[in-house]
Amino acid sequence: MSLDDASTWDHFRGLVAAASGTRTLEDAVARECRSLALDAGAAVPPHALKPLAASLGATVVQVQAEHGPSGRLTRATSGAFKIEVKESQGWRRKRFTISHEIGHLILLRRSQGDRKLRTALESPDYWSSVERVCDYFAAEILMPKAGLIDDLRAKELGPDRIFWLYDRYLVSWQALMRRLVQVSGGSGIGFWTRGRTRRGPVCPRLTDWYASEGVAFVPRGISSSRLTPDLITRAFAGLGSEDAVLSTLRLPSGVLIGPSRAFVWEYTRQPVLFEGYRVRDEVRVAAEVVSLHGQICQLAEPRLAFTVSQRDVGEPG
Ligand SMILES: [Zn+2]
Repeated sequence: MSLDDASTWDHFRGLVAAASGTRTLEDAVARECRSLALDAGAAVPPHALKPLAASLGATVVQVQAEHGPSGRLTRATSGAFKIEVKESQGWRRKRFTISHEIGHLILLRRSQGDRKLRTALESPDYWSSVERVCDYFAAEILMPKAGLIDDLRAKELGPDRIFWLYDRYLVSWQALMRRLVQVSGGSGIGFWTRGRTRRGPVCPRLTDWYASEGVAFVPRGISSSRLTPDLITRAFAGLGSEDAVLSTLRLPSGVLIGPSRAFVWEYTRQPVLFEGYRVRDEVRVAAEVVSLHGQICQLAEPRLAFTVSQRDVGEPG
């Protein structure tokens, strides 16, 4: 039997939810991660990951490898599990890799009493769904949704607050950005730079875009002139928007409409310590201005969600 991707995914997340005794995959992931932290005696994030792995019977080892995956789970003939993580990755990135492998361990443990889940885990048809679920586990282990939502509600996001979250959860930049839009739903985060010609600065362009599931993809390189009002150019001119304003972003696929905010990407950094170790930054942000779109800049007012209008606006010239 061959299933297409969407139905395989729907089927698999249903299996994981059922195996954990919850209604949705999200609830299953939250429940499993909560009980894992309890078992390992971990209180609040950022968690040390070796004790979490140990509570599932696994040790974590670093391996020197040029190629191959960033991490993998192996099992000795004795039955002991080993999480192998590629040494060459950044420290923050390794934490995601290890947490992803812990996700595999959770699924394996849960499948022991669940024949349907066990069969799916052994089938190549579900490999990409399994990987996706393990990424969910990794994100929840490192940045539990409930706590992160509280953090987002507590204070308006700006460069300092974003770095506060980056150090609060000790994750990679990518992992943080993806998680922020995932937990807030109906959101996008844009990074903008302004190119220069001999005649002076030119219109700001998008260098990176992170969006919640269901929000339209916004291609890199688009000009901020597609945003009305053009909050990005205003931010460059020193007119950052404290409050969210309703904006539209014209795309080839339609129009994104929602509250938006933009601010200049300026910050000061203090090194952080974790278990006596000085944690390095792994930020590669080329942006000068950051924009928040949709619910993420208005979490206290979820009714103002980010919507994609189906209206075909065509390509501006
Ligand atoms: Zn995996």
